[in-house]
Amino acid sequence: MSDDLIVRRPEGLYCPPGDFHVDPWRPVARAVITHAHADHARRGHGAYLAQADGAGVLRARLGDINLQTLAWGEALEINGVRVSLHPAGHVLGSAQVRLEHGGQVWVVSGDYYASGVDGERNTIGPAFEPQRCHCFITESTFGLPIYRWRPQAEVFAAIDAWWAANAAAGRPSLLLGYSFGKAQRLLAGVDASIGPIVTHASVESVNEAYRAAGVVLPATRSLDELAKADLARALVVAPPAVVGSAWTRRLGDYGDAFASGWMQLRGTRRRYGVDRGFVLSDHADWPGLQRAIAATGASRVIVTHGYEAVMVRWLCQQGLDAGSFETDYGAQDDAAD
Ligand SMILES: [Zn+2]
Ligand SMILES: [Zn+2]
Repeated sequence: MSDDLIVRRPEGLYCPPGDFHVDPWRPVARAVITHAHADHARRGHGAYLAQADGAGVLRARLGDINLQTLAWGEALEINGVRVSLHPAGHVLGSAQVRLEHGGQVWVVSGDYYASGVDGERNTIGPAFEPQRCHCFITESTFGLPIYRWRPQAEVFAAIDAWWAANAAAGRPSLLLGYSFGKAQRLLAGVDASIGPIVTHASVESVNEAYRAAGVVLPATRSLDELAKADLARALVVAPPAVVGSAWTRRLGDYGDAFASGWMQLRGTRRRYGVDRGFVLSDHADWPGLQRAIAATGASRVIVTHGYEAVMVRWLCQQGLDAGSFETDYGAQDDAAD
């Protein structure tokens, strides 16, 4: 019998000694949840355990669930397995799950944002905190060498310049990003002195959860609150789903842009039909993944959703014991970048 602290079962990743799952994709009795994106936090589990900052968003998305929360680093024993949650830097309350049992430490990353550049900081919450472990289970959404993010300051300088140019031309700037995570990363990074900031209702409801957790975001208004003259200078932050809607038509003539890690791929911007694409992600890029994995000191690495085969090959070349788990993560749009 193996001593592995996490195995793959048809319903999801399972901890045999603890008798619980992590981010299961089918209903189970007890689920530890890394974060509230739809592909990681699903309906129908008997009991949920998650980081306290993410509780509001989790409840807003899943309804009246049986939820227990932990503070960062707080430990809970589940059937003799010591479970604790540590910052993943991805979205509000996003956690790595650290498991300790029988002298073994395993960490399940969920999704994470870890920069490969020195001195980069996470603007929307605590930064990814590497945990020393024997086995690290890592995502690989952007696990290809072509994915290398520019320093965030450069990306935001480009976004600000685009917004300022539109404002000077008297038209609003519609900036598209997913409502939970990307929109807040955008708001925290732009230069709010350029003009007023308008948010779509789906973004604003998540903003409230971030603010309640102490994340500083600039003042935001709804479209109804803004005078026409102010709208002409405004940055409008909304999810991609608004494209072609009646809500967007109320903006009149506007410039548009999409912020996503996928904008690094040629053709993505054109496929969305927007003026501009900004490469900005809630996930680690290739250097960030490498740095994060190395920082765990793990000799064994298991790769989940993304470019598993490429990552596994690279890790084996580094002399690590690497494999992969096939999962159901990464399927939903709002978790895709
Ligand atoms: Zn994911
Ligand atoms: Zn996610």
